[in-house]
Amino acid sequence: MKFNDPHRKAIYSEPAPIKRSHENPFEAMVERFDIAARILELDEGFYEYLVTPARVHITAIPVVMDSGKIKMFEGYRVIHSDILGPSKGGIRYAPDVNLDEVKALASWMTWKCAIVDVPFGGAKGGVICNPREMSGRELERLTRRYAANLADVFGPDKDIPAPDMNTNEQIMAWILDTYSMSVKRTEPAVVTGKPISLGGSQGRREATGRGVMTVTLAAMERLNMQVAGSTVAVQGFGNVGSVAADLLTQQGCKVVAVSDVSGGYYNENGLDIQAMIAYSAENGNSLEGYPDAQPITNDELLALEVDVLAPCAKEDQITSQNAHTVKAKIISEGANGPTSPGGDRILAEKGTLVIPDILANAGGVTVSYFEWVQDRQGYFWTKDRVERRLDRMMRKAFDDVYDRAQQHDVTMRIGAYVLAIKKVADALKLRGIYA
Ligand code: NAD
Repeated sequence: MKFNDPHRKAIYSEPAPIKRSHENPFEAMVERFDIAARILELDEGFYEYLVTPARVHITAIPVVMDSGKIKMFEGYRVIHSDILGPSKGGIRYAPDVNLDEVKALASWMTWKCAIVDVPFGGAKGGVICNPREMSGRELERLTRRYAANLADVFGPDKDIPAPDMNTNEQIMAWILDTYSMSVKRTEPAVVTGKPISLGGSQGRREATGRGVMTVTLAAMERLNMQVAGSTVAVQGFGNVGSVAADLLTQQGCKVVAVSDVSGGYYNENGLDIQAMIAYSAENGNSLEGYPDAQPITNDELLALEVDVLAPCAKEDQITSQNAHTVKAKIISEGANGPTSPGGDRILAEKGTLVIPDILANAGGVTVSYFEWVQDRQGYFWTKDRVERRLDRMMRKAFDDVYDRAQQHDVTMRIGAYVLAIKKVADALKLRGIYA
């Protein structure tokens, strides 16, 4: 869809229409972008520039499977923007990854980095594959060939990958090694989220969940809510959800429900999050069969009467279909894209404070930035230093977004987009258009 389309004009000049855009994550991003662009009275040319990914790479990845047969995979790397600096973003392995999803995630990275004031642009990668059905050797060959195909795209001054869904520090180590072989020197700063022994940062694993905790506490403060004893439900018990649940418990909140793919777990007196983390680790990253809780469905978890709901699993969990059932006062979006534009409108009418994903889960990219800085300095920080700096940056980002939302009388999500788009547009104006 082009800016000059009559349909686009309608979005741009009137309240956003109710449509099923959540089925296409890029359209969902553009819908929010449009509202923010209208508030900023963004020049049409700038609008087109900032909504369009700078580069889209599609690469065929041949892999010799353990059976000896060759299987072809498709991989993507989308650079949405490098206006503020080298592009930054994770790589996702999943059977249903598609280009629109990767484009949406890449642009979210641009806005996220701008919000936390990190000098990076936005990118994202994806490979269509089912890692659960692949052996470790097959995953290594897939990763190395994907990295080799994109060796000219990646680089510490160009584009810096990180883990995302179904990728981890081992996969980052293989990318580091493959890239280093290609440039004939060891280059730790080409990826973040790597093992500490290869130049990873203290505190990176917990960074996203920690950021969710920081912004949640900041929101409670703004709403004059008491932290001690406040009730929390967390959807998703992986890297982000389990850490957020654990840290919020340490702050005195009562986490009454969590869920993972196996279902939801509820205890009105508060769950023992440490015990659940240990149980999940021993049980193949699953809470299936966890004894000290009442089983509930995912829908029931989202509709619980709690103070805070933290969706930390996947996209499109709160939509026009179920947003009216949500009773939480604060939604803290650990996941990327958990609320659709239709869901947003219902929550805004109800007066729910939604801390948007591009702010709430920006702790991950913030510590990735710290990791990149440490790699380039060759000097590594203590965990305490990482955490203090992360808390400071997340707190400031929360205040900036909250104030911006108040200033324009819009939701925090639109406030976040306004803040981010303005920063990138101002930088673009200074740089000008190369011709
Ligand atoms: P993860 O794979 O470690 O955990 C995902 C969790 O969600 C698992 O517990 C899984 O069982 C659960 N889950 C999946 N489908 C579910 C469903 N339908 N209902 C309930 N639970 C379900 O992933 P992660 O790294 O924790 O990432 C979670 C989300 O946070 C993703 O949207 C990701 O893009 C986003 N995110 C992650 C980071 C990071 O640093 N890891 C940073 C920013 C954003």
